[in-house]
Amino acid sequence: MLGTAAGGGFPQWNCACALCDLSRRNPVRCTPRLQLQAVVSSGGRNVLLNAGPDLRVQIESTPKLQPQPERGRRNTPVDGIVLTSADLDQVLGLLLMREFQPLRVYATPLVHRVLTANSFFRMMERVPQQLTWITMLPNEPFELLPGVQCTALPMSDELPHYAKSFAEGAEPGQAVVGLVLASSEKKIVYTPAVGEVTDSLYQEYATADVIAVDGTFWSNDELQRAQPGTPLARQIGHVPISGEDGMMASMAGLEKPRRVFVHLNNTNPILDRESGERSAVLAGGWEIAEDGCLL
Ligand SMILES: [Zn+2]
Repeated sequence: MLGTAAGGGFPQWNCACALCDLSRRNPVRCTPRLQLQAVVSSGGRNVLLNAGPDLRVQIESTPKLQPQPERGRRNTPVDGIVLTSADLDQVLGLLLMREFQPLRVYATPLVHRVLTANSFFRMMERVPQQLTWITMLPNEPFELLPGVQCTALPMSDELPHYAKSFAEGAEPGQAVVGLVLASSEKKIVYTPAVGEVTDSLYQEYATADVIAVDGTFWSNDELQRAQPGTPLARQIGHVPISGEDGMMASMAGLEKPRRVFVHLNNTNPILDRESGERSAVLAGGWEIAEDGCLL
């Protein structure tokens, strides 16, 4: 994990809430985080899971993602990017990678259509094979890297605000997907946005070795308490961590997987190492991902 914060990062540039403020004053107690970014590696090759706005910094702080002089002036050990949605926080980094570097981008037909309708993305198509779009269909496994199989899981039909006009005629199960990454060693389920823990998702979790789960909000009304008039967590596609039907309660019966929360919003009290909420999460057998951690 190269970044673990939700949109805006932590602290967020225009936020003076108690947590952002604490993070600026006491970064040991309340550690700053880059925006969500993951990378899958196998045999010296790497594929990014989404491309967030902090990507350049994340590559520069991760030697295995950097170009090597012995391979010529322009090169990258990054083969491609898997997109789990068209959310700006998951795709802005693509626009930072427009230095004529050939890359593969795996996306559902719906996400592909939304992005390529935007003229910004024409900057990614200035030379042949600059971006090679590869169709990723839900529930159809494909080889992402040598020895690593990837399967997209349909998560939600909710398109980002800027792309609402694509809702009509949109293929179901393609707006937001989760990813199952499987090798001979382990199965990881990567789901940074979970609007509902369905039976089929629960089954995926139950058979995984590691699950990376939406930890955006601690409580359903967290945003409203910070700023009246804002939506509930569930209204914007995130099951909160706490509560009778929250993430922890609905997954209390899981035995096998390591359970890790990712995609933490700057309002989430588990960001504070001294909070009771954080203690409750850890006591419940969950981990809280840190930038740089390994799943
Ligand atoms: Zn804040």
